[in-house]
Amino acid sequence: VRVTLLAGGVGGARFALGLLDVVGAAAVTIVGNVGDDVELLGLHVSPDLDTCLYTLAGVVHPEQGWGVEGDTREALGVVGRLGGADWFILGDRDIGLHLVRTERLRRGEPLSRVMADVAARMGVGARLLPATDDRLRTRVLTDDGELGFQEWFVGRRAAPPVRRLRFAGTPGARPAPGVLQAIADADRVVLAPSNPFISLDPILAVDGVRAAVQARRADVVAVSPLIGPRAVKGPLGEMLDALGHERSPLGVARYLAPLAGRFVLDQADAGHADRIRALGVEPVTAAALMRDAAARRRLAEAALT
Ligand code: GDP
Ligand code: CA
Repeated sequence: VRVTLLAGGVGGARFALGLLDVVGAAAVTIVGNVGDDVELLGLHVSPDLDTCLYTLAGVVHPEQGWGVEGDTREALGVVGRLGGADWFILGDRDIGLHLVRTERLRRGEPLSRVMADVAARMGVGARLLPATDDRLRTRVLTDDGELGFQEWFVGRRAAPPVRRLRFAGTPGARPAPGVLQAIADADRVVLAPSNPFISLDPILAVDGVRAAVQARRADVVAVSPLIGPRAVKGPLGEMLDALGHERSPLGVARYLAPLAGRFVLDQADAGHADRIRALGVEPVTAAALMRDAAARRRLAEAALT
């Protein structure tokens, strides 16, 4: 079976690992989020794509879920001592990737081609596509004004409540080559257990992507990033509250119901199953915590049943 996965960073990448285990790398296309991308110190950083890349290449920091295992921060230390912007963590090995990517982008190569080449060189068998090669940036409207995504997430520790999100560059951002076809041709489209507002929505905001996913709704399955009222990691719980959604897997299922005909939720949340079914969404219960390889594999299997 060919599977296309819409994925953000850590939740998306960990799910992707399980998926590769089940169907094999050659059967998987990942459509990744670029709304988090940021230019720092002259470098183009793509945090979510790189989390997928490092995870699938087997070099990711295992507890953190992002960055390269064993990486050092010598360069960033120098940046700080010299009065440069050191608020965003860039490991030394990580910087090597950013240097190559930035130089190639500056010469006019599309991000999708750079990432395909880098992924191949790192031994990643799955196809990793940025949702768009065009400039798309998540902007966060707060009571302190509008912030760039990383300014809000890292700079402000995701503390100011989110009033609204906006994806600068949309409409008008064109899908990267292969994105729409990967959604149309897959046997299954999976919405990873990623943050729906800041990981999935910026992918769906690319011209034609939401419609392409909607057209496959019967074959689209979403996996809950919430277990009970809590995100396994990150600010999703607070964001659901701030944006006026129920803080539960049901709240996420309701939000994604126009796109996904099936929804995987944790066994502990089985009490929501009837209300999810009432939305016209088929609930599937499974152990949703991806604590190890076996758990990731079982969750991927549940999503594909
Ligand atoms: P980010 O860019 O690293 O924030 O990436 P994602 O949006 O892909 O991942 C964050 C989401 O993954 C959060 O909402 C987490 O709750 C979810 N997540 C992380 N680990 C797990 C897990 O083991 N199981 C499930 N179901 N969700 C998880
Ligand atoms: Ca992210």
